[in-house]
Amino acid sequence: MKKHKPADSIQDIQYFGEYGGVNPSISDSSTFTYLAGKTMEEVFGGEREGCYLYSRHMNPSTGYLSEAISNMENTEAAQVAASGMGAITSVLLQICSAGDHIVSSRTIYGGTYAFMKNFLPKLNISTSFVNTTDLKAIESAITGTTKLIYCETMSNPLLEVSDIKAISEIAKKYNLKLIVDNTFTPLIFSPKEMGADIVIHSLTKFINGASDTVGGVICADAKFIHQLIDVNYGASMLLGPTMDALRANSILKNLRTLHVRMNQHSKNAYYLAEKFQELGLKVFYPGLPTHPQHELMKSLMNEEFGFGGMLMIDVGDMEKAYKLMESMQINNIGYLAVSLGFYKTLFSAPGASTSSEIPEEEQREMGISEGMVRISVGLDNDIERTFKKIKSCMQEVGIF
Ligand code: PLP
Repeated sequence: MKKHKPADSIQDIQYFGEYGGVNPSISDSSTFTYLAGKTMEEVFGGEREGCYLYSRHMNPSTGYLSEAISNMENTEAAQVAASGMGAITSVLLQICSAGDHIVSSRTIYGGTYAFMKNFLPKLNISTSFVNTTDLKAIESAITGTTKLIYCETMSNPLLEVSDIKAISEIAKKYNLKLIVDNTFTPLIFSPKEMGADIVIHSLTKFINGASDTVGGVICADAKFIHQLIDVNYGASMLLGPTMDALRANSILKNLRTLHVRMNQHSKNAYYLAEKFQELGLKVFYPGLPTHPQHELMKSLMNEEFGFGGMLMIDVGDMEKAYKLMESMQINNIGYLAVSLGFYKTLFSAPGASTSSEIPEEEQREMGISEGMVRISVGLDNDIERTFKKIKSCMQEVGIF
């Protein structure tokens, strides 16, 4: 079987502007005209396809970006959203009804966790949070009302790698949908190729790479995407997490350099992870042979893009973690900021920020501790220089 090449699939796309421009024109319109009333009626009734109606439903510019990302993920179709959470919540609400149950990874983005834990119960949708690196735990959490399994390719913030292939076998066995958030590892993993039904990204991170907008995308088969934008029943259409045409166009332009950026992020993160480990620090990075899913990742990944740009260290306690981050910011190594995938290195203490929605007791149970610093490694040209600077910050705050 020919292996899917995600970066080539982006590179090979040709979109032209209406005057032959090498970039597509931006469709800066919320609504579209019709020559005949009957045609509009047919579009509303779902009897006619291929016509634009209203930009919450479809817009040529959001369509270009959706198509480009569906090419990257090798799914039949995709639908962009105004944020990653807009994509995640639409998918969950489209699939689940009152009385349904979700089996989710317990180490997921805090917002997704909060939505499942605090919001969905209002609609009588319940979630069991499990360790998705434990296949038995997944299987035993499935009940007669389970509709889907949810996980991240590389979990936030612990960087555990899920065996999507094996989890998809479980999903198939029980006739469940497998939803995978691939935000941390675009290009590196192709979840649909491993059996996922729906692949989600927060475009806010690596894919856009400029930290200038939020955005999201849902990649799936054409039937599911049509359901999402159905004028009567579609979660995307009715909840309205719509991406603007101008933004879709700017994200599309950034998507084209994703492979170059991912390579550099991965190269730099690998370098720092090795160096931190040599210093005797506790390092979480799947590229290191000491990482529990290192071999698994090697067997599943698209190797050419490396092990990703995210790494985490544990410096012992919160005070040291804060001091280190403040010192790294003062020394212009990067920014003390949440989010990821920027040209500058970004760092935050996950327990008190991006995972703060998870109660402290549960954080400890999962393995999230107070001294952890999550680092989204930037595109630094001279990573040796960066390491030297970080090392002296570590010395300054007494980490070793
Ligand atoms: N998924 C992951 C893995 C994330 O890290 C985030 C945000 O940090 C989201 C989803 C949510 O994305 P957004 O902030 O674009 O809504």
